[in-house]
Amino acid sequence: MNAIPDADITVLRNLRIWDGDNWTDADTLCVQRGRIAALEHAGNLSGKTTIIDCAGAVAIPGLMDAHVHMELNPEHSRPPAFTDLNQRPQMEKRAKDMVEAGITTARDLGGGAWLELALRDRIATGSVPGPRLICAGQPLTSPGGHCHFWGGEAANLEQARGVLKRQANKGVDLIKVMASGGRMTSGSDPSKPQFDVDTLSGIVAAAKQYGLPVAAHCHGTKAIEYATLAGVSTIEHCSWVGQDGWASDYQEEIARIILDKGVWVSPTINRGWQRMLDSKTGAVLGRVRAAYGAMLDMGIPFVASTDAGIPGVFHHHLPEALGVFGRIAELSNADTLRSATSGAARALGVSAITGRLAPGLAADVLLVDGDPLEDMSALTRPVGIWASGRAIRLP
Ligand SMILES: [Zn+2]
Repeated sequence: MNAIPDADITVLRNLRIWDGDNWTDADTLCVQRGRIAALEHAGNLSGKTTIIDCAGAVAIPGLMDAHVHMELNPEHSRPPAFTDLNQRPQMEKRAKDMVEAGITTARDLGGGAWLELALRDRIATGSVPGPRLICAGQPLTSPGGHCHFWGGEAANLEQARGVLKRQANKGVDLIKVMASGGRMTSGSDPSKPQFDVDTLSGIVAAAKQYGLPVAAHCHGTKAIEYATLAGVSTIEHCSWVGQDGWASDYQEEIARIILDKGVWVSPTINRGWQRMLDSKTGAVLGRVRAAYGAMLDMGIPFVASTDAGIPGVFHHHLPEALGVFGRIAELSNADTLRSATSGAARALGVSAITGRLAPGLAADVLLVDGDPLEDMSALTRPVGIWASGRAIRLP
């Protein structure tokens, strides 16, 4: 700190600070050149020029959504059959809405024309506001399989290597593979795997040669098993779909492998899942709770995600979705928040960059009106936001 000219530092004072894991006893955040320089006490502030009084707001790390699609318009009732190449303004608007809701990092798990990579780069240079994006490009899928219209079809490992090389050449940050079918592609069956375990293992190995982790879309139980054995980093959805529908085929022995391999589960719970909590019968809720509860009790880590962009799921609704996620998974508010901050950063491999309020990390800071550890609705009342140190909203 001594070598830093005080004039370069922005000081956010009069805060209660939850650092992404726990409460701290500091009440002041010092931000310098986009990063957190220090957590301090108001006593040491003499001489520092830009001082912002935050009126007792609670500071937490900016939120992270581990599963979004920037190119999808949630107002469409079904995803279009091809990528609209003229939607740069709409994608920039989605990014702006997200960061203004306190989402400072998001992982994009698929598009057809790498438009989200271009958006990622414009955000990173500061030319447009938005969250830090981590992008997968075209998802690998079987011929005619889930989201085949995005161009990532592969009938075998050799073709998959070709798709993977194309993504790497475009500068993706990870690889997405559709390990099972999905609901939004006609002719695709969510309960069935799209690749065998050897092909998936080959895909993970090929991705590793490019230094890229793999996220696997998995609804059916077989796909969950194959993707886990293949060594993917995150299981998206993890729906345990069996013959009797959603969450009807949870298998503890497969969950054990998920735990042993350190795989993260990304359950894509959006705020619309509230209808499951409101349902009179509660049949699906009971099965989902039983499966997620067993996995959480076992110690399997969960990362918050929404699948934003699919019909009715808006990109900036993570703050509301987190409350629903916590109630469905029966998590404490602190654990729910960790799944969208410090835990999310570990799941996405960016904990050296963001996810906590700690010296040296990006100044991704969300100030909220109220204590979200007491009441998650405080997340929907942002009063100050910084993304990589850029002020998005001042208290
Ligand atoms: Zn998705």
